[in-house]
Amino acid sequence: MQKKKVLICGAGVAGLATAWWLNRQNLDVEVVEKYPDFKQNGYMIGLSGPGLNIAEKMGLKNDLLQQNISIGENLYISKTGKHLHRLNYSKILEELEFLSFPRTNLVRTIYNHTKDDLPITFGEKAISFSDHAHGQTEVIFQSGSRKSYDLIIGADGIHSDLRSKFFGNESQFIHHMGYSVAAFTVDIPNTLQTEFVSYVEPSRQSQYYALNEKQLVAILCWQNNNISSIPQNSRAEYLKNIFSGANPICLERIELAKSQQAHIYLDNMAMIEMPQWSQGNKVVIGDAAYCMSLLSGQGAGMALTGAYLLSEGIKRHGLPNGMVYYENQLRKSILRLQKRSRKIASIFIPKTHYGFWLRNLSMKLIPENLLGRYFLKNIQSEIMDSENGIQEKN
Ligand SMILES: Cc1cc2nc3c(=O)[nH]c(=O)nc-3n(C[C@H](O)[C@H](O)[C@H](O)COP(=O)(O)OP(=O)(O)OC[C@H]3O[C@@H](n4cnc5c(N)ncnc54)[C@H](O)[C@@H]3O)c2cc1C
Repeated sequence: MQKKKVLICGAGVAGLATAWWLNRQNLDVEVVEKYPDFKQNGYMIGLSGPGLNIAEKMGLKNDLLQQNISIGENLYISKTGKHLHRLNYSKILEELEFLSFPRTNLVRTIYNHTKDDLPITFGEKAISFSDHAHGQTEVIFQSGSRKSYDLIIGADGIHSDLRSKFFGNESQFIHHMGYSVAAFTVDIPNTLQTEFVSYVEPSRQSQYYALNEKQLVAILCWQNNNISSIPQNSRAEYLKNIFSGANPICLERIELAKSQQAHIYLDNMAMIEMPQWSQGNKVVIGDAAYCMSLLSGQGAGMALTGAYLLSEGIKRHGLPNGMVYYENQLRKSILRLQKRSRKIASIFIPKTHYGFWLRNLSMKLIPENLLGRYFLKNIQSEIMDSENGIQEKN
């Protein structure tokens, strides 16, 4: 019998992990990635719980362990340079298996474990789809080539083109969290006083950590309801306006990003909430289907978990029932994590001076071990809930 053909659009965490799993079945899998190379998003991601378990099942864990960057302590500094408080992450997370590394490292690690057995075309994009009566869909690519597939998987991130084509406009599914986020990497010797340094004030914050002795990552967040798209070469100026009057270090680093022409990631902090993730022979996965925002700390983990469950579903139930399995297994955990993100968003960066003062005071007064236990308990119960949800039905 001829192998079923699968097209995966997007070579991020979700797309490559799905390709890795499906390639172990009797399927003919192809991946297209719209950029000529991997996106250079230097921001750090943490992996724990189900996502880390899936990474282990895929044989990635040893490679990831070698790239682990310890996140140690976070020092909070005010606009005027006053040290406000410290959070010792390594102590808080010591009972939890938790790895952190730049997002691009995770993508490259999956790629290195996938590329020899799988066709991945960079700089290519599917632009039109026509369904045939016999169940296949013909795809026309940007390059002009055309081919028919039995299954099409949209793993193309929060602003998914495939979701818009198959399920409807982004505006139906996107929910803004009230913040915008920017991230960039600059070449500068590491002079941070501790592993993480956060400059905080009402409505905005900027955080820094060293990737190595010569490179620094900046993550900037500020209260904002919805920014429209800003061209790459105007982003540094835009950030300088947003952070005008902030601690001078923040402005110096934006200026450095500008002079070094660093790639600046800039987006609204948002979640994707869809009533269903599959339809006929089309399915979306990862941020395209269920982005939980960076506040969940589980986006990459759930992209890996979704990839595993979709592949398990197809292995156990074939097409299209396998997609129902994937959705049934994962949806509860996603809803829980999205609910938690919404809760965190309400206190993430206090808007008023009073709210800011109150948060600083409580962080100062609550003993670190109590605060640590509170954080850890929350993270552990989320992880256990997700794991139980996923294992119960397996
Ligand atoms: C600042 C920040 C911090 C974060 N911290 C964490 C964390 O600590 N822990 C965690 O687990 N998660 C974290 N996340 C979230 C995590 O990065 C995402 O959830 C995860 O990367 C989603 O993977 P994905 O593959 O679904 O999407 P993406 O990583 O966005 O990948 C989508 C891919 O599809 C490609 N593409 C787009 N359109 C097309 C198209 N039409 N055709 C072909 N290819 C296309 C893109 O170029 C990209 O390569 C964070 C996110 C941010 C922004």
